[in-house]
Amino acid sequence: MNEFALIEQLTRSWPRPASVVAGVGEDCAVLDLGIADQFVLFKTDAVVEGVHFTAEAAPAQIGHKALARCLSDIAAMAGTPTHALITLGLPRDHDPAVLEEIYRGIGALADRYQVALVGGETTTNPDRLLLSVSVLGTVPKDRCLLRSGAQPGDALFVTGELGGALAGKHLEFQPRLREAQWLAAHFPVHSMIDLSDGLAGDLRHVLKASGVGAELHGPSIPISRAARRRGPGQSSGRTPFVAALTDGEDFELLFSVSSRAAVSLLDQWNRQFPELRLTCVGKITRTPDLTLRDKTGCKPLVLHGYLHFS
Ligand SMILES: [Mg+2]
Repeated sequence: MNEFALIEQLTRSWPRPASVVAGVGEDCAVLDLGIADQFVLFKTDAVVEGVHFTAEAAPAQIGHKALARCLSDIAAMAGTPTHALITLGLPRDHDPAVLEEIYRGIGALADRYQVALVGGETTTNPDRLLLSVSVLGTVPKDRCLLRSGAQPGDALFVTGELGGALAGKHLEFQPRLREAQWLAAHFPVHSMIDLSDGLAGDLRHVLKASGVGAELHGPSIPISRAARRRGPGQSSGRTPFVAALTDGEDFELLFSVSSRAAVSLLDQWNRQFPELRLTCVGKITRTPDLTLRDKTGCKPLVLHGYLHFS
């Protein structure tokens, strides 16, 4: 059973009170706690030594990554993060200087986005370091973006470049908070997700939640330099193109927007965020299939994204 089937099974019987606008299956829980015009966003995430970072990773970057992953999910709803709790599972032989560096990494990112660190928990985890972060945020009710809003005919966009994040980007990425808020404020964005498991995997979550399909335009996929550098033939024949579609941890935004707005969106984006590439990679379709178009024609996309277990 893969991780998504397991989550579905474990959460099937959870009650859904009226305060829960969106829960399992979105990037964050979206809660209506009675605050005028605002939803509360609620998110937790963990990084584990040997899974999300190696023992050689710089401790400040481990801290950065742990908080940035949660902030990226807040960005996926076009929200603003406000408060965070930090839970540490420490190996028995931990080095206090390393912990200080981890907290320095967390603190620098929290400062940058004005997230207040307000507590947490420390426990032991005998063999390896575990770092878990929970974040609260807010979003205006009329600007909250979900995975479930994609509509046939929408243009599909992705920020940045994809693939090869494990070469370094995964430890130092910036959550796309400002970009997401700007998009939600100015354009008819219908759905959004942050790319944690690869475009081929995460796009399927959007399609399933929205009950639609998509056609990706192969030659348009923005392939990162790190994915290209790895070159074809390495790691069992994976090409840079396959890496761009299936590597995890890009933490870029994937969103769909009314096709009428696509041209003006690209135009204004390039003025607003000249240093961050924005690419139209395809369109949302009514038929619920995921296809890839290239110069040889249009065929079903058989690639999937990263799974923690399957
Ligand atoms: Mg996410």
